[in-house]
Parts: sequence; C-alpha cells; structure tokens
Amino acid sequence: MRIVLLGAPGSGKGTQSQRLVEQQHIPQISTGDLLRAAVAQGTPLGVQAKEAMTAGRLVEDSIVLEMIRERLGEPDTGRGFILDGFPRNIAQARALDTLLEQIGQPLDVVVQLKVDYAELSRRIAGRRTCSDCDRVVNLLTTPRESLEQERCPVTGKPHRLFQRPDDNEATVAQRLRVYEQQTSPLIEYYAGQGLLRSIDAQGDVAEVSGRLTAVLPR
Ligand code: AMP
Repeated sequence: MRIVLLGAPGSGKGTQSQRLVEQQHIPQISTGDLLRAAVAQGTPLGVQAKEAMTAGRLVEDSIVLEMIRERLGEPDTGRGFILDGFPRNIAQARALDTLLEQIGQPLDVVVQLKVDYAELSRRIAGRRTCSDCDRVVNLLTTPRESLEQERCPVTGKPHRLFQRPDDNEATVAQRLRVYEQQTSPLIEYYAGQGLLRSIDAQGDVAEVSGRLTAVLPR
C-alpha cells in the first residue's frame, strides 16, 4: 500500500508511521529524517539544506525530490511505503504524481491527521529524541518512570534525550505558518483526486492509530 500522511508539524505523522510500519510491513520514508541524516553527515546536500531547516523554511524542492527519487528506487519500497513529511507543497505533489506514474505505482490513499493549533504547539514543546537510537518520545505523554526504566537499544543505558534545534518556539511558529501557506493546499489537491481521508488525530496514540487503520483501503 502506498500512503501519504499529511499533517502539520506535531500532528503525529512520525508516531503513526512507525505503527503503520509494523502493521503493514512497508517502510516509512520521512524527508525530515533523511535531511537530518544528511545534515549530520555533512554531505553537500545536507550543507545546502541546513540553513532552511534551522530557519523553519522548506528546503528547496530540487534537493528533496532527488532524495525521494533515490529512496523510492530502493527495493524495500516494492510492496509500498508511507510518505511522512513529503510532499510539502503543490509542486512536490505534482512531481510525486509524475514519478509514481513513471514507475506504475500510484498512491492508494492520503490521510490527513487533524490536530488543533494549541495541541500542536504543546506536543512539539514536549518532543525529545534519543541521540543514540533516534527514538522520539513525548515528555507530556510518556510517564517519567517508564522513561527512566527504559533502556536504549544501542547503549543499554537510559536514553540520552535532546530537543530538535528546530523545535524551539520561534522556529515552530514559522513551521506552522509554512504548513498553513504551502502544505495545507494539498488537502484540496488530494481531495480532488479522490484520495483524501481525514481523521481526528487528537487523543490517545492507539486510538488515533485505530482511526487511521479504519480509513485505509481494504
Ligand atoms: P519534519 O521532520 O518533517 O518536521 O521536517 C523538518 C524540516 O525539514 C522542515 O521544517 C523543512 O525545513 C525540512 N523538510 C522536511 N521535509 C521537507 C519537504 N518535503 N520539503 C522541503 N523541506 C522539507
């Protein structure tokens, strides 16, 4: 199954993608994760992307599209994939349509995760990542005791949590504006193609996951 998860920063795309990976046995493709890896490795692409990411702007389409083209060419995407954080504007959506048409693998569904603005800001403020295993947790929803007891699968010690540099208040406000202006027009774009399903993505992670599974094509 070929799925796009559409939603503002903090709407739970990453969390729900991981659940879908286990449920559907298809890979998650997150352009944010691919870009962060390129920045961390200091590749030429990462160097170019870093400034826009730090400022909360979108990275140039040409860079992101090249990354996606390469990633979709890998063999693990044969049974499908979950796109998380891509496409982010109409130009990217059109380019994706063309690419998928060329390889004869059109999208099956686009799921919009709906979360109100106050909740998005709250969730992003509590988001932390383990610097060793990349696990993303939320301090607001994960009880402190369970975090302290959990062991990082890489180090065998407690997770070493940090906040993403673009999760600070000013950059988050900018990223939410970018979502409104550039990404939210995709809702209409995919509704026009008959692919859009919208779900309430507030509340318990497992409940949201149930709503998501319920709107996937059989
Ligand atoms: P995310 O992890 O999806 O929130 O993405 C983090 C940052 O990476 C965004 O604020 C953008 O700067 C950049 N980014 C991620 N995906 C894209 C994309 N599809 N197009 C352009 N920039 C992106």
